[in-house]
Amino acid sequence: MPELSKEVLISEKEIAKRVDELAEEISNRQDGRPLLVVGILKGSFIFLADLVRRLTCPVTLEFIRVLMKDEREEGSPRIIKYDVPFTVEGKDVLIVEDIFDTGITIDYLLDHFANQSPASTQVCVLLDKTETHKVDVKVDYVGFEIPNKYVIGYGLDFEEKYRDLPYISWLDNVTWPLSS
Ligand code: 5GP
Repeated sequence: MPELSKEVLISEKEIAKRVDELAEEISNRQDGRPLLVVGILKGSFIFLADLVRRLTCPVTLEFIRVLMKDEREEGSPRIIKYDVPFTVEGKDVLIVEDIFDTGITIDYLLDHFANQSPASTQVCVLLDKTETHKVDVKVDYVGFEIPNKYVIGYGLDFEEKYRDLPYISWLDNVTWPLSS
């Protein structure tokens, strides 16, 4: 059975400080140009809400939902369950993701948007599990590099629980991808 660690991996205070820094970096690079922020549901929703409120460039917001065809298979192809309802042609796009694990989701979305001729596409992830990358994708902004643990909290779930934790912790005894 998965057990919630009693320890905090990343505290509320550390998250808030890093989100401030990321927002400043993104705003500076954007230099007043409008940004279309695309949040990947559901795990990014709290990070995204905190980040967009700190950006100083004009922001519009959309969401996309990507699922694994088979949650038991690590390299499973991704499918789009819910998409941005227009093409992103000519726009500066910032993809916001909770976690870079294998990188397959980000890689898939970069291809998806590249086909629509955006002005630019950047990627911002809150967490980066540096030990588990399977594909080499360019990520522009990383909140925190973390060890290979199953993390929860601040939007991230296990079976839809723990998203509401204000900090990031981890669960022991979780095999990921989820086994049947
Ligand atoms: P990818 O392997 O494509 O980089 O990540 C796919 C998705 O797996 C992430 O968006 C996230 O929803 C989920 N994921 C990967 N590692 C973890 C983890 O440690 N905790 C949670 N809650 N989700 C994870």
